[in-house]
Amino acid sequence: MTTPAPLLEADVPRPVLDVIARLHELGHAVFLVGGCVRDTLRGVHPKDFDVATSALPEEVQRAFRKVIPTGIQHGTVTVVQGGTHVEVTTFRSEGDYHDGRRPSAVTFEQDIVKDLSRRDFTINAMAWNPLTHELADPFGGQQDLKARVVRCVGSAIERFSEDGLRPMRAVRFAAVLDFTLDPGTQAAIPETLPVFRKVAYERVREEFVKLLLSKREAFGLELLATTGLLDVFLPELARADAEAARLARTAAAAEPVDVEIRLAALLADLVTPPQAEEIGVRLKFPTKTIERVKLLSSHAALERHVGDPDPALRRLLAKVGLANVEALTSVARARIQARDPARLPEMDALIGRLHGLAASKPPLSAKELALNGGAIMATLGVGPSPIVGEATRFLLERVLDEPSLNEVEKLKEMLLAWRQARGS
Ligand code: ATP
Ligand code: MG
Repeated sequence: MTTPAPLLEADVPRPVLDVIARLHELGHAVFLVGGCVRDTLRGVHPKDFDVATSALPEEVQRAFRKVIPTGIQHGTVTVVQGGTHVEVTTFRSEGDYHDGRRPSAVTFEQDIVKDLSRRDFTINAMAWNPLTHELADPFGGQQDLKARVVRCVGSAIERFSEDGLRPMRAVRFAAVLDFTLDPGTQAAIPETLPVFRKVAYERVREEFVKLLLSKREAFGLELLATTGLLDVFLPELARADAEAARLARTAAAAEPVDVEIRLAALLADLVTPPQAEEIGVRLKFPTKTIERVKLLSSHAALERHVGDPDPALRRLLAKVGLANVEALTSVARARIQARDPARLPEMDALIGRLHGLAASKPPLSAKELALNGGAIMATLGVGPSPIVGEATRFLLERVLDEPSLNEVEKLKEMLLAWRQARGS
């Protein structure tokens, strides 16, 4: 068989080739494997290059000067070569699975086909040696790539019962690659949902994020819903009425492609801010992400500010913070585009005003006032007391109304007038 052209033209990094050459020289079988072979065949430059070999982890360690034992019990070590890290994994097969989560044991193998048989999908179960041009494709991966199909290696029911994350990965790959699911693979998903339910939310979240950031996120979300996966980890969307769910999926295509922006756009009109937080916690997102999604989704309905005068818009900026304006306007725009595109021009005008106001860097918080706490106390002739807080709030409100008032003398003058008016 002749080697497909994209493999011959592949741009494999020098350090990766060096690692392969060395293991080959020592008489071991060695291949590039998994995602990098799939992506190269698709004509896409791979994110990373994974090496698989018949050499045992100790043999790999001995073959190179610098090796980090990353996951040595699973057969993976990292070779530090030419300044880059190359992951090398010994061919392996997996024993019985406990609980649909973790294989009970891994066995090292000498045969690449054994290693490929334990992989999830045919398109991920190809191996290629860039020096000898040997290509191993025992499950028809190239054919499925051409047909743009995600298909399990072997029996889908069995594969999904071994590892409950695989159905989620199947849908994720379909969304990322713009492929469809093979009918047998898709049909196995509802049947194995009890196994999927046992998967740790961290693992589910990782796949969910990749799907959400893909070009076909709306298709992916829909497929998650129809297969029953979505109901397990995001029932708020799975059980929403059809139109609300469609609008949420469409809004989630928000640009720029960013997890916080896309999640906020997905959830803004679907759930309350406390529910958005609950979802973030459930899926074990970092606290920073959860807080930002909550903030962005709770202010996402920017259309209600369309007629607002500048002081009201400055108060909005004060609430969301200048650092979040870009993201907030992205979320708001995506929502309107999905829900009421006729209002896009007025939304864009509002966004223009917000950006204009933000660019002028108006004082938005007490610490940006030209008078600090000490100066306020001195002006009023008081020591630390509740009146200082009241005075600060008064000045900030005036400055939010009119930023040009934020000058020492003007603030002092206002402060004295304020005290006089209060009669104290
Ligand atoms: P990506 O470009 O998204 O990283 P990838 O194919 O490299 O795609 P990884 O999750 O990095 O995906 O996994 C690397 C390879 O390991 C896959 O191509 C597949 O062969 C195998 N693999 C990963 N997870 C599983 C799993 N849960 N079950 C079986 N094989 C898996
Ligand atoms: Mg990968």
